[in-house]
Amino acid sequence: MPPTAYAGDAPTHPYASLDTALEMGFQQCVEQFRKALLACPIGWLFVSWLVWGETTQQLLLGWLGLIALAWLASLAILTRLARRHITVARDGWLLYLAVVLDGLAWGSSLLFLVVDEHVYLGLIVVLCGVTALVAPVFISHIRAYRFHSLAIYAMVAANCLYRHDDAYVQALKLMAGMALFMLFIHIHAQRTAARILHGLRLQLENAMLTEQLRERLRAAKLDATTDPLTGLANRRVLDSALVTWQSRVVHSARQLSVLMIDIDHFKQINDTYGHEVGDRVLRAFAEHVRSLLRSQDLFARHGGEEFVILLPDTPVEAASHAGNRIRASLESTPLINDPPVRITVSIGVAQHQDGESIDTTMARADAAAYSAKHLGRNKVHLAA
Ligand code: GH3
Ligand code: MG
Ligand code: MG
Repeated sequence: MPPTAYAGDAPTHPYASLDTALEMGFQQCVEQFRKALLACPIGWLFVSWLVWGETTQQLLLGWLGLIALAWLASLAILTRLARRHITVARDGWLLYLAVVLDGLAWGSSLLFLVVDEHVYLGLIVVLCGVTALVAPVFISHIRAYRFHSLAIYAMVAANCLYRHDDAYVQALKLMAGMALFMLFIHIHAQRTAARILHGLRLQLENAMLTEQLRERLRAAKLDATTDPLTGLANRRVLDSALVTWQSRVVHSARQLSVLMIDIDHFKQINDTYGHEVGDRVLRAFAEHVRSLLRSQDLFARHGGEEFVILLPDTPVEAASHAGNRIRASLESTPLINDPPVRITVSIGVAQHQDGESIDTTMARADAAAYSAKHLGRNKVHLAA
């Protein structure tokens, strides 16, 4: 039997999950940006209130129409992304497109809505506010934040140069101020983003370790309950099932029958073909007999070439019938073909009787199997 390979034996490199953390951050960013977009119309209302009476209604409507179009386009892109499994390499550009559209739409407020100077400064403050407010939205994928800020900044710069074509110094001051503000926010956001990414990676590693632990526990539990050669329940499981049945037969008056099976002349198989073939025969035997049983029957390896089957809620006649079916099926079917090996079994059958312990029932089944041997093997014998 090859040694069990545990998933936990794979090395866990601290950076192994960095790429996965990046992808996770990207997915979270798409989700967050979509949610943030849904709240966007509140921002439009605020801007409309701010410039109300300071600009013409046509201009305001024009801007609202433009930003609503960009909003719809961004939302459509993000909804599409939210519906499938996304990766930075394949879908990053779609997020950046949505982000740039949003940034340009906000920045375009300067082109549409400015009629006098104090509205202009008010809008610059609004754009700084938007830049600061959306930082948490993009914090798990900071590159998207850069695109958003650049789009806003491009509109501010374009507007400054266009509006102040006769006052370059003033334009440059405004652009430099905004650039400084954005730079400051970005340095701060960058640090937070690094921490977020680190947190995501830890989260992933924890999930991985938990999964490995679970897998090891599962394997350990399997090792503790399974016979390694045949995969059947081992002696430990059989013993604990017998304890359980001891209380069931006393307290719930349920019936239990036991089949004790011993393979006939098994030593000859080992002697003739070798131990390895003997092992294959034991495995094939276990598989074959398992296929003849009900799901509620417990089939366990008692030791060596001896096996026990507990048949719940089964009277002795039915148990004997089941034993005979197993015996006849084994007699007529070769268990392995290369070399061709056919076996027979001797089976003892006993039903638990009122007042006796389960151990006594087992001993009677054992004695019945012994009698089956002495009656010439390949027999099913009922316990006295
Ligand atoms: P009987 O009909 O009287 O039961 O004869 P038998 O040869 O089956 O009984 P015996 O008790 O003389 O021999 C049992 C053999 O089963 C001897 C032992 O080497 C073999 N055996 C027990 N466990 C294993 C195993 O895990 N693998 C293999 N290949 N052989 C095993
Ligand atoms: Mg034996
Ligand atoms: Mg035997």
